[in-house]
Amino acid sequence: MRLSSYFLPVLKETPAEAQVVSHRLMLRAGMIKQQAAGIYSWLPLGFKVLRKLENIIHEEQIKAGHIPIQMPILQSADLWRESGRYDDYGQEMLRIKDRQDRDLLYTPTAEEMVTDIFRSHVSSYKDLPLTLYQIQWKFRDEIRPRFGIMRGREFYMKDGYNFDLTKEDALHSYNRHLVSYLKTYERMGLQAIPMRADSGPIGGDNTHEFLVLAETGESEVFYDSKVTDLTFGDRDIDYNDKAACQSILDEFTSLYARTDETHDPKLFAQLPNDRQKSARGIEVGQIFYFGTKYSEAMGAYVADDEGSKMPVHMGSHGIGVSRLIGAIIEASHDENGIIWPEGVTPFHCGIVNLKQGDEEAEEACEALYNSLSVLGLEPLYDDRNERAGGKFATMDLIGLPWRLTVGPRGLKNGVVELTNRKTGVSEEIPPEKAVEKIAHVYRAVKVGDFLFN
Ligand code: ATP
Ligand code: MG
Repeated sequence: MRLSSYFLPVLKETPAEAQVVSHRLMLRAGMIKQQAAGIYSWLPLGFKVLRKLENIIHEEQIKAGHIPIQMPILQSADLWRESGRYDDYGQEMLRIKDRQDRDLLYTPTAEEMVTDIFRSHVSSYKDLPLTLYQIQWKFRDEIRPRFGIMRGREFYMKDGYNFDLTKEDALHSYNRHLVSYLKTYERMGLQAIPMRADSGPIGGDNTHEFLVLAETGESEVFYDSKVTDLTFGDRDIDYNDKAACQSILDEFTSLYARTDETHDPKLFAQLPNDRQKSARGIEVGQIFYFGTKYSEAMGAYVADDEGSKMPVHMGSHGIGVSRLIGAIIEASHDENGIIWPEGVTPFHCGIVNLKQGDEEAEEACEALYNSLSVLGLEPLYDDRNERAGGKFATMDLIGLPWRLTVGPRGLKNGVVELTNRKTGVSEEIPPEKAVEKIAHVYRAVKVGDFLFN
């Protein structure tokens, strides 16, 4: 993309209404625009990051054997009356009437609808296990939307639902989700710690939240300092292997890590003093096993191998896709702007032309642009007629992990400057070497591997 023909409405001033750094930076970098309390437009740069996250999620879900679908945003109230949640959900549910005076609602989650799909089409244990998921807009009429997209009213969520014949199978689905989530967050450059949590209105007693530690987090959490040493790394996982999934779950959840509702001061006190940590965390996901709560209420039964009708065991699993962008920025920025992890960056590399109008510099920039594009990478070329200082400030603000700086002086010596946004380290190298190096980095994060279809 050439910046002169892109739409990147960066702000010079820090918006006064934004209380947390991620919100400030998203507004300044021209990623979002508020349209009403807790409701945002996603401008090109923000929309691109949203799509990157979505792709990682799809890829990891599909690897885990889960099947993507899409359910409607507007749902009939009658479905929610069947489970009893139409009355239970309270004021967070946005209720709407159509012209025929029928009650509709804007989906805050979708257990009822997916259970309806299941009961209409599945009647035998032979069709199990089954996990369906979607990535779809949700609405919750939050009493206090704040922190930009981190607590919006309209927000983007991945929500998945497993259907299993037995509790044991459903717990394997739970473990599988935990593993796939660990991998998903890691690919986004985030450490999200699974913590025992309270189940809230979804119900059930088996649940973990995934928390990114950050001062601006809304949840209070208590944990053994050793949990932050756990990393998923480059493991090969067989999602059908129950024992393997269980052992990863044990590894990541056997140390003390809980949100405040489930915090147990006595148990916590048994940890060595220097390992007892309390902090704030941003909830970026949650998984639940809730058994037969919805299947019994809504009649989702399957015949087992003896022909007896059994209510299916279910769980649901959510990732806060839009909130994650805020969480990533909270975890990765400096005083000059965002620092995108390589796995989610909107563009792979910035190209700054120090002297627009200089024939040689322009040619060199075009050549870099083409070499990177041919490799399947997306450079953002700042080809505007602006002074270098302004171009650097914009690049730092929008946080691309790598920047190529091209000017007549370097070109005389056959070099361009390659700068890492995170470390600030620059090196002067021939353009071909720079392209090679950038391509090598992104090969490691598997950019462009996946086409969702
Ligand atoms: P919270 O406790 O933060 O209100 P929740 O537990 O009610 O969230 P879930 O039902 O578990 O939310 O939804 C799955 C994920 O969706 C959450 O882990 C969170 O990342 C995200 N999410 C929930 N509510 C919002 C919101 N208002 N704005 C943005 N993301 C949200
Ligand atoms: Mg939750």
